[in-house]
Amino acid sequence: MIDFNVPPYIGTELAYVKEAAENHKICGDGPFTKRCHAWMRERFNAAKVLLTTSGTTALEMAALLCSIEDGDEVILPSFTFSSTANAFVLAGAHLVFVDVRPDTMNIDENKIEAAITSRTKAICVVHYAGVSCEMDTIMDIARRHGLKVVEDAAQGVMSTYKGKALGTIGDFGCFSFHETKNYSMGEGGAFLTQSLEYGDKAEVLREKGTDRSKFLRGQIDKYTWQDYGSSYLPSDINAAYLLAQLEQANHINDNRLASWNAYHKAFAPLKERGLVELPYIPEDCVHNAHMYWLKARDLKERTELIAHLKKRDAQATFHYIPLHSAPAGKKFGHFAGKDEYTTKESNRLLRLPMYYGLASEDLNTVVDAVYEFYGVAREA
Ligand SMILES: *Cc1c(COP(=O)(O)O)cnc(C)c1O
Repeated sequence: MIDFNVPPYIGTELAYVKEAAENHKICGDGPFTKRCHAWMRERFNAAKVLLTTSGTTALEMAALLCSIEDGDEVILPSFTFSSTANAFVLAGAHLVFVDVRPDTMNIDENKIEAAITSRTKAICVVHYAGVSCEMDTIMDIARRHGLKVVEDAAQGVMSTYKGKALGTIGDFGCFSFHETKNYSMGEGGAFLTQSLEYGDKAEVLREKGTDRSKFLRGQIDKYTWQDYGSSYLPSDINAAYLLAQLEQANHINDNRLASWNAYHKAFAPLKERGLVELPYIPEDCVHNAHMYWLKARDLKERTELIAHLKKRDAQATFHYIPLHSAPAGKKFGHFAGKDEYTTKESNRLLRLPMYYGLASEDLNTVVDAVYEFYGVAREA
């Protein structure tokens, strides 16, 4: 079976994990965590980066820093993972779902403004498949209405928009290092901000509400409870595992992009015949090949295509069930405007095997199976 996902593994992880163990420093914010922070600050030109225990907890930190009060509203797409929404629900917000664009499956920047009310506090964008949302338009709307922008860049590590790393454009950015993401520490994530003021607040939030981070840097001689907070910092063992992969980020990224480009080229003739739709990468976006998706005609055809791929030993999967149609989505939010694309397009989308080290024979097996399904001879 060609797996849908294989967690990244580069080979240097265990040496670093061993070193972390031998350092006798396995709690959070040890030497490997510091190295991950420094690597990301430099690579992504980010003022503040803090490793977290997951993408989910990075989003929770971002939501808590949006100063949401009961009844305040947060705008987000419905086509996303539950964590994007949960973070704001836990912070007390009412969710306002906005439609996606069918070409990128990102929130439609032109439908955001109509969803803003006097209670709106923040916009949370999701860079689906590691392809950036239209950030200039979104940041302009947010500034004009005094809203915070949170970037769920869980899938967007190493992607850029107009040269800027995803996660560094809005007020707060959130990465995931879950095993299904491009770089992994098993479970983990990162919180990013370009604001040093919010960077300080985030440190307190992440360290049980204390100023221990300042204490560890020798800036104060004792640390005390400053504000509300929790424990969002991962073990240095996990950070060691991640650092090994970050140091090979170009190699991992190139490998994934080669697979992505091979799929894209191979499927172009099917697209020309109008049989499938393929991802669109806007001009200002450089993506990280997080995912390769295609769209069948409708739900029925997608179900048949997934079943056909399974017969040919390839795992393909659908993606999000729109949150506004889920029980919790109905309880905690509402869809603003018309659901023109969210439901329809989510029913048609399927994701193909995509991971670091995907063998080209396996990729070709997947492509052949899709051609076979559509009864089209594959061009040499
Ligand atoms: C993976 C993912 C998350 C959650 O990240 P975890 O590290 O699994 O908690 C949140 N949002 C999106 C869009 C994701 O893809």
